[in-house]
Amino acid sequence: MSRVFNFSAGPAVLPEPVLERARAELSDWHGHGMSVMEMSHRGRDFTAIAEQAEADLRRLLGVPDDYAVLFVQGGASQQFAMVPLNLLPEGGSADYLDTGTWSDKAIEEGARFGRINVVASSRDTRYTTIPAREGWQLDPQAAYVHYTPNETIVGVEFPYVPEVGDRPLVADMSSTILSRPIDVRRFGLIYAGAQKNIGPAGLTVVIVRRELLGRARAQCPTMLDYAVFAKHGSMYNTPPTFGWYLAGLIFEWLLAQGGLPAMAEKNARKAGRLYAYLDGSGFYRNPVDPACRSWMNVPFRLADESLDAVFLKEAEAAGLVGLAGHRIVGGMRASLYNAMPEAGVEALIAFLQDFVQRRG
Ligand SMILES: *Cc1c(COP(=O)(O)O)cnc(C)c1O
Repeated sequence: MSRVFNFSAGPAVLPEPVLERARAELSDWHGHGMSVMEMSHRGRDFTAIAEQAEADLRRLLGVPDDYAVLFVQGGASQQFAMVPLNLLPEGGSADYLDTGTWSDKAIEEGARFGRINVVASSRDTRYTTIPAREGWQLDPQAAYVHYTPNETIVGVEFPYVPEVGDRPLVADMSSTILSRPIDVRRFGLIYAGAQKNIGPAGLTVVIVRRELLGRARAQCPTMLDYAVFAKHGSMYNTPPTFGWYLAGLIFEWLLAQGGLPAMAEKNARKAGRLYAYLDGSGFYRNPVDPACRSWMNVPFRLADESLDAVFLKEAEAAGLVGLAGHRIVGGMRASLYNAMPEAGVEALIAFLQDFVQRRG
């Protein structure tokens, strides 16, 4: 059986050469007679794997030395609580931008720990826009400003990094990290669940300015305290070793592709091709403001939604899978993460054209 083109939003497609390499190393890593899964996380071999992965990630993103890189568990959803537990003092407040389902969830969780000021919301456009900067109500007292650079479900993405003064900017980059270069210095803290653009589920990457460490609330559980992760090299307890190793293989692959400038070019081309086709098709439509359309997640709807089921069935038969939209919005969604080859996008467009001709 050959591999399909997997457009799933996450867990998502991984680069085939990385999977082949992991397969080749699976039962006997570098002639050491065991799998990475079987190694002590404190042994020399895994330490080397872990350090190399961190070094490669730092190189890819240009992470400055005064930022810690943490490998944690619990997914991006756990960060919705870890961020306030670490950065929001008792009785304090934090600013959140509401641009979709994920920011909404972050707000809901943050509200368990303090006052949340919703700076601006695009709910009234069904999250198809980014609220205009002029209307944002930033609170000068806020402990931090949280936003979601790419909303995975509706496919809306900030085309810029918000300017928020000297308050730490916190970003949930789960579905956009590594899709293009960023200036890490603009952020106080970045977090991302791995299963979209980093590696397998079970690993979460956090990049945090070191001066923000050590501010956790007194009752913050040990395993939710960033300072504990930083102090122990993310090995206070047993880390998700295999996910960390696989993420390292992906970082190595990204560097070999030319790093993030090369990925950005390729990602812009992939998304641009697909949006241009959808917009010109007269049958499919994407409702998101063209100024803030996501490179990574491209939702679209058929003019005749009674065809959705047959569309998905025929797509799957053509080797194009994972195209169903998120259950809360319906329709379709093509996720075009780094590991989706351009040939996958071409195959999708060819299928879309063929489907309209036959059924449209
Ligand atoms: C997928 C996703 C999440 C949730 O991630 P989990 O790792 O499942 O907790 C949060 N935020 C964004 C932007 C996402 O895409």
